[in-house]
Amino acid sequence: MTRNSTKTDEFEHEICGIIDFPDDRFEEIIREVGFVCDCCGRCCTSEFNDHVFLLDEDAERIIEVAGKEALRPAPYYEFCDNLGRFYVMGYALMNKPGGSCIFYTGGRCEHYSDRPEICRIFPYMLHREEDDEGNIDWRQIGGMDRHGLYHSEISVEAAREIIDAVKRYEIAFLRQKLAFLHKIEDHFRKHGLRHSQQLYDRGMREFKRGEEIEVYVFFMGEFIMEKRSI
Ligand code: SF4
Ligand code: SF4
Repeated sequence: MTRNSTKTDEFEHEICGIIDFPDDRFEEIIREVGFVCDCCGRCCTSEFNDHVFLLDEDAERIIEVAGKEALRPAPYYEFCDNLGRFYVMGYALMNKPGGSCIFYTGGRCEHYSDRPEICRIFPYMLHREEDDEGNIDWRQIGGMDRHGLYHSEISVEAAREIIDAVKRYEIAFLRQKLAFLHKIEDHFRKHGLRHSQQLYDRGMREFKRGEEIEVYVFFMGEFIMEKRSI
């Protein structure tokens, strides 16, 4: 699977880039921006977020505290096999009608102490993204100047804690993605399957019309079959 090999190389390269990204530079950015959350809650709504992706460890914890019904296959399925079944690298939290996170109630998170890792680090991030001019570069803070307070005093210790948490999350995300790609490669080879873009597009059209589809979610090293319809 050449397409996969190129992607796995890219992700491995990205992991090395995150590990090597100089902490001093990241610390300088965090302290210069001086971001402080004002608890407006917009990152729990569709205004900032169309889904909350769950690392496997998040999904396990959420199942324990809120049950499996709080989870859905993460959107934007990555593959569709030649039998019309979709595959995705993990779960996301369910949304409420209107798009808010299922745990966002009365302006607060119902499961704050068990919230997913991505909620703990937002708006900090460390991955490469394309800017408006098409240049790809590291992005460290999301939604700048659209939320929260700026130019506050951030201690070196607090900045270092943020850096550790962000690097840990970004690496865990890429490792889950890599493990998913390896699993897909094995699964397709073992069962004589291949990715079909034609069936992917057709399945998505049917899904949007309200038909049920099968999605295989990569969770704890295995695929879990889920039925999905709008
Ligand atoms: S889990 Fe909690 S913190 Fe995270 S998006 Fe949902 S409501 Fe917000
Ligand atoms: S992180 Fe930003 S969007 Fe989320 S609650 Fe804080 S200020 Fe609001």
